[in-house]
Amino acid sequence: MYEGAVQDLIDELGRLPGVGPKSAQRIAFHLLAAESADVTRLAETLIRVKSSVKFCSVCGNVAEADICRICGDLRRDPTVICVVEEPKDVVAVERTREFRGRYHVLGGAISPIDGVGPDDLRIRELLTRLRDGVVTELILATDPNLEGEATATYLARLVNPMGLTVTRLASGLPVGGDLEYADEVTLGRAFSGRRRVD
Ligand SMILES: [Zn+2]
Repeated sequence: MYEGAVQDLIDELGRLPGVGPKSAQRIAFHLLAAESADVTRLAETLIRVKSSVKFCSVCGNVAEADICRICGDLRRDPTVICVVEEPKDVVAVERTREFRGRYHVLGGAISPIDGVGPDDLRIRELLTRLRDGVVTELILATDPNLEGEATATYLARLVNPMGLTVTRLASGLPVGGDLEYADEVTLGRAFSGRRRVD
């Protein structure tokens, strides 16, 4: 529709999640009209995020060093691990201020349609973390949708024989959605009302 670089920009923006063709066009023209310094800062941030941000070798959360801020915080309770799908879910749970334990980021959920099986997630790493017996409770905070439920069920079956308490967030979360879409109060309530799964 447009010439050269403008169309390239619209195409690139359109590949981002949640950005349709109309939004892509709006953002592209916003950037064209913006101050040069602002656009440069955005471009540099994009490059820096790919070159400097790593994933925590313990929990899989985003980190600026080998170990993330939460895993490196000795005040966090090492006996409870909250399992989530994505780093953004860590942020959502942190916002509730209900949880003082550690996290484990799976990197997705089991989804046969998308070709994602247990081996594609950081499940082996989770089992390794549970082996030394320090962890006494595992909270399954995967998304309240089909894939999230399937993943929680799979993990519960896998982990229950290890003798630790496995819990799932209480109902009340918007079904079919992402954990991050729940407001802090609802998610906090789901957290404190978590129940045991056997
Ligand atoms: Zn970590």
